[in-house]
Amino acid sequence: MSHKRRLFTLIELLIVIAIIAILAAMLLPALNKARTRARQTRCLGNLKQIGQAVAIYADSSDGNLPPLYYGNYQAPFLQPTLARTVFNVELGASSSAEELLKTMKTPFYCPDVTADSLGTHQHGSFAANLSHVFATSPANAYSPKPRKISGFRRPSQIQMFVDARGGTGRNNWEIACLVEFAGHAANLSGRHNGGANMAKVDGSATWDRREAIIDNRNDLWGHDNQ
Ligand SMILES: [Zn+2]
Ligand SMILES: [Zn+2]
Repeated sequence: MSHKRRLFTLIELLIVIAIIAILAAMLLPALNKARTRARQTRCLGNLKQIGQAVAIYADSSDGNLPPLYYGNYQAPFLQPTLARTVFNVELGASSSAEELLKTMKTPFYCPDVTADSLGTHQHGSFAANLSHVFATSPANAYSPKPRKISGFRRPSQIQMFVDARGGTGRNNWEIACLVEFAGHAANLSGRHNGGANMAKVDGSATWDRREAIIDNRNDLWGHDNQ
């Protein structure tokens, strides 16, 4: 009897272990999904902060947006200017891996971007809409002449910053309109559930599918602001 009873207990134990294993296997993807979702929400919050930083900058600059470049177009200007004037941090000044990790905690980085994917690029992971927001025209993309926020007809629909792919060089902090420069689609991220977060001209932030951004749905690139 006691022998039989022990055997039964062993089977019970095995069943419990099996159930725990099944539950864990079911729970892990859900946990990962929740974490992915949390990073997407944090990214959206970062873009909202950048949108507000632009508004603060404009408030003290006669309603003008910060210029995309200052003189030499190879030198990033926009993101470091916002970082310096509104958040009091220096982007692109990191001298070590530790410094870079500190910079990556600022609102200029998507929480899904890793230090490894950045290389020497340290000016944030959100690309500025250079064609129709920060430059005066696509033909004059490198003009430092700023636009006024009040000049936009649909400020809640036009994106001024979009989540961009990690990488070195300029590719990650500016993006040309994908209608005229389809090749720039490679700069666009789809790391949040197949889509990207964006900061709109009015300071709000939204998410959209990567394809919708490439297809210029609702003219989110801003063609009525040539
Ligand atoms: Zn992101
Ligand atoms: Zn365009």
